[in-house]
Amino acid sequence: MRFRSLQSRIVVFFVALLLTVQVAGFGLISHAIKNYAARTIRHELAVGERIFQRVLEQNAHQLALATSILADDYGFRQAISSVNQKRLALALDVHRERVGAEVMMLINPKHIVLADSNRSTLTNKPFPFPELIRESEKTGSASMILVSNDRLYQFVLVPVTVPAAWIVLGFPIDDRLAADLGELASLQISFLRRTDNEEWKLFASTLPAALQPALLDHMRGVAAVDSTPLMVLDGEKFQTLTSSVSKIGEKPVFAVLQRSLNDALLPFDALQANLLVLTLIGLVISVAGSIFTARNVSRPVTQLAKLANEIEQGNYLQAAEMDRADEIGKLASAFNHMRQAIADRENRISTLAYKDALTGLPNRILFNDRLHQALGSSLRSGQPLTVLIMDLDHFKDVNDTLGHHMGDLLLEEVATRLQTTLARQSDTLARLGGDEFAVLLPADDAKAARSVALRLLEALDVPITLNGHAVDVGGSIGIASYPEHGTDAGTLLQRADVAMYAAKRGNSGVAVYDPRDDDHTAERLSLLGDLKHAVEFNELMLCYQPQLDLQTGTVESVEALIRWRHPRRGYIAPDLFIPFAEQSGYIKTITRWVLAEAFRKAAECHANRLPIRISVNISARDLAGAELQETCIELIQLYRVEPEWIRLEITEGAIMDDPTRAMETLEALHGMGFDLSIDDFGKGYSSLSYLKKLPVDELKIDKSFVMGMVCDKDDAMIVRSTIDLGHNMGLRVVAEGVENAEDLHLLKQLRCDLAQGFLISKPLSSNDLMKWLSEFRSRPISENAHFADTAQNRPARNSSFSVVKSG
Ligand code: C2E
Ligand code: CA
Ligand code: CA
Repeated sequence: MRFRSLQSRIVVFFVALLLTVQVAGFGLISHAIKNYAARTIRHELAVGERIFQRVLEQNAHQLALATSILADDYGFRQAISSVNQKRLALALDVHRERVGAEVMMLINPKHIVLADSNRSTLTNKPFPFPELIRESEKTGSASMILVSNDRLYQFVLVPVTVPAAWIVLGFPIDDRLAADLGELASLQISFLRRTDNEEWKLFASTLPAALQPALLDHMRGVAAVDSTPLMVLDGEKFQTLTSSVSKIGEKPVFAVLQRSLNDALLPFDALQANLLVLTLIGLVISVAGSIFTARNVSRPVTQLAKLANEIEQGNYLQAAEMDRADEIGKLASAFNHMRQAIADRENRISTLAYKDALTGLPNRILFNDRLHQALGSSLRSGQPLTVLIMDLDHFKDVNDTLGHHMGDLLLEEVATRLQTTLARQSDTLARLGGDEFAVLLPADDAKAARSVALRLLEALDVPITLNGHAVDVGGSIGIASYPEHGTDAGTLLQRADVAMYAAKRGNSGVAVYDPRDDDHTAERLSLLGDLKHAVEFNELMLCYQPQLDLQTGTVESVEALIRWRHPRRGYIAPDLFIPFAEQSGYIKTITRWVLAEAFRKAAECHANRLPIRISVNISARDLAGAELQETCIELIQLYRVEPEWIRLEITEGAIMDDPTRAMETLEALHGMGFDLSIDDFGKGYSSLSYLKKLPVDELKIDKSFVMGMVCDKDDAMIVRSTIDLGHNMGLRVVAEGVENAEDLHLLKQLRCDLAQGFLISKPLSSNDLMKWLSEFRSRPISENAHFADTAQNRPARNSSFSVVKSG
């Protein structure tokens, strides 16, 4: 059995501890009691033996005394002098009765029995116990324990001088005598002797009749009679002392003195029972106590673990409430401080991430979030929804002539005016960046939105005074509505943007989206033909741009970027054909080609001991359907590539086109082992809460923010908060578009993980990459880690593989 919880472990430990101590104590005490009882009994037996010897001696002495008095008695002497057998026997019998003996005999000097009170067959025969007479000749009177007629007797022999004779008295040693002796010494006493056929005979015993055969049985089995101090009779233990009571003859008589151990232990039974009860009570108390203690320790720990889970889920409201001064109390209070600190930090990060620092308005990210939510509820309710995008006119002039500071003041004032014009709580005004604002009007269609837009422009009619300068500002507003102009956030924003440019071009102030404003339709058809040709005739190639690990100064990954060597137009940058390929659906063929090329290259690099991970750009269209996964599985097998060698870059926009679909595909790819990256982060129209759920490993900050970072506070803020946000979500953060040493230095300070840009290297052809990598590796790390903005390291911008825009 295993105890997983702290609580059960504590309980088990304490109970086991107590149990061990109690059992050991109980054992020791029992042992001591038994020892003590055995010692006491041994002592009692020794005393008993002495008492019993003394009693026999006393008996003999008294009998001898009584007999000698009798022997001096004149009448008695006369009687024994008579030769009349009958008279003699009668006289003996009278005296026998007087002294309480069972046998009385008169023996003449020739050791012949003259008379026997029992008138037995011994009369006129030699006295059968000559040893008794020999003893008496030495000591006067003599006493011995002897067997006669199968019974045990204490015989006392007293000499009579006139006429010379001996008087013999026999007292039976029977159960009654044994009982008297036993009572006197508080012992069991048994008399026994080996018979001629080596069996044992019991003459008298205080043992219960049921135990007597067991005693004989036991004696039969032992070699030496005094060898068993502990005897088990019928399951009961007896401490035993065996002493010989008659030393004469080959088969002496033994007295077996015994004391039952059970009896001796009886007084201690109550003590032991009390001890047992005490042990049990102790056990119950200790179980209860340890459960209580364990609960006291484990309950708050469980509670804290639960709260930690809550925090992990982003719920910071619940505090650990533990009113105690001990270590757990301290832990709870430390926990609360930590919770507060995390909440504050998260708050700061999300403020940075969601709010525009200058105006305090929602930024692009928050605006996108709200737009997604609003689209969701419009989808359910069927209500329209409108997006406005507004760009200030001549803002650049203000910035250039009056300075950045004035530009900032102007933007703040514009923000205030726009905000006050929007009366409804549900409308969202956001600053998307620079002088671009956006408004979300949930529940308004394009027509209603138009009048809001006019009011917004009206609010800017009154010139704005900045440090005494009256500045005229105006704006152009583009309108796109759901469901009329688009059903997803990306399309709506893009179309509002198109409308805004149309308004600007037409100087109309406000314009609603019109598909005719979307340009280059004719050009597209010829382009598709060219593109198909390009794939077939090998006009496409992949370039690779190294990514520098800012912590280790090593390069372990590159981004694959596509190039088109157009026979007439020269190198065409991907920006010029990829969007078109995406719209026409031809992108799937291109992606397949790019993936195959990248897998092949990855296999080649690994084979050449250049373990490089290659990032491949994936488009929105690729995420719909299972083709992408199928292609990947096929290529893994074809080139024997590990999925970890490939990273897939997906723009936020691509994900948000069809979030459910994207999630499915990304999860499948991630499950296969591919590394996933969100490209152009900060530029797209994604919902942050949604991004959090994606199985991605990396965020790539869009190069527009990185490139503006050193001069523009806002860009720097976005870069900084994106890095924090990414790290907060446990993601690696890559900055692209790193062009100078200053950028690199700042990124290092902000603890950005990877940097990619012209400073490190321009995108390189397949062959150049191999050269570049081995050269880079041969340089000392310190040199690589501190890229200096030197002419040597800085690649030429107009190199054949850098972005070439065709005119
Ligand atoms: P992207 O994924 O954001 O790629 C980074 C772009 O930034 C590349 O332009 C790269 O050459 C450029 N760049 C790198 N460092 C710097 C720098 O320091 N300064 C500046 N100004 N630019 C830098 P590129 O190669 O023209 O690619 C443009 C876009 O075309 C890519 O943006 C990506 O969205 C798309 N693209 C490129 N290759 C592929 C492809 O194979 N498949 C798909 N679907 N799209 C691709
Ligand atoms: Ca990319
Ligand atoms: Ca990018």
